[in-house]
Amino acid sequence: MTAAQTAEDAAEYSLRPQTLREYIGQKKAKENLSVFIQAAKMRGEPLDHVLLHGPPGLGKTTLSNIIANEMGVHIRITSGPAIEKPGDLAALLTNLNENDILFVDEIHRLNRSVEEILYPAMEDFAIDIIIGKGPSANSIRLDLPHFTLVGATTRAGQLSAPLRDRFGVTLRLELYTPEELKLIVQRSAGILEVPIEDDGALEIARRSRGTPRIANRMLRRVRDFAQVRAGGVITRGVADQALTALEVDELGLDAIDRRMLRSIIEHYGGGPVGLETLAATINEEAVTLEDVYEPYLMQMGFLTRTPRGRCVTPQAYRHLGLAVPGGMDLEQLTL
Ligand code: ADP
Repeated sequence: MTAAQTAEDAAEYSLRPQTLREYIGQKKAKENLSVFIQAAKMRGEPLDHVLLHGPPGLGKTTLSNIIANEMGVHIRITSGPAIEKPGDLAALLTNLNENDILFVDEIHRLNRSVEEILYPAMEDFAIDIIIGKGPSANSIRLDLPHFTLVGATTRAGQLSAPLRDRFGVTLRLELYTPEELKLIVQRSAGILEVPIEDDGALEIARRSRGTPRIANRMLRRVRDFAQVRAGGVITRGVADQALTALEVDELGLDAIDRRMLRSIIEHYGGGPVGLETLAATINEEAVTLEDVYEPYLMQMGFLTRTPRGRCVTPQAYRHLGLAVPGGMDLEQLTL
């Protein structure tokens, strides 16, 4: 991890809401969770296992910390790729206390042998450990504390069915509206003690791709511009200046979004084009395009997924200032 990453992580940590009340937006997920948490507390039981899914930066890690706070239990944080062997998972599980939370980020990246240990752990709060080798090998069952597994993933579709079925609660986090992001930006500005005008907060919110992590990152960059060029106050003008300098356009699309759309238009006649081919053309990872870029482009109505590949829409041509090819508007209407 680089020094810049560590600083960014520290900044992110200080902006994390600690309670459900402070957690802005995601109304449905919050309402459901609050009922499940209250019920579990009333029964004195651990919360059922929870699967959180949605694009990166929407608040999955934040929400799992909040669940631990609201339940009044400890949380152990790890990730799918970090658990290499079944023994690693066994060590984590046996060290938990009653009702504790084990948070596994990127749970779709767990390897098979580890995942198989997780099934009985989730279902029966027990694991089977093999002692010895060959004909004298013995399996012993080890009881575990009653714990809650909170899994986070950007791609619920990649989870194996047996694992998915063992989660009692599945919550999908949605991209945030500009109004919700505005509240997040204002809250963060308060914590960072940066004066911000209403319009300034809304401008950052509108250009943050529906994602709190991006909104907070933009806020910190805009603060730099405000300090150097505008006497420290974030106004709409200074937000616009900063975001334009960062190549974020008025709808929040960044250089990669635009490269993606342009490439589909210029090299593939507007699509359809397969994701892997597109990724190779613009020299990005296919998973990054799918997890990070596509959700927002689809929400904005610039991109569609079809069985034959990705296509841009007439709106994308217009946004990029390009002429919409003849007949495309009609074609879209009849789809
Ligand atoms: P994920 O785990 O989904 O990638 P995080 O939980 O790390 O996302 O959230 C990224 C940042 O966004 C956090 O530092 C937090 O400050 C902010 N954040 C996320 N969701 C919310 C929310 N609902 N309200 C306020 N801030 C939020």
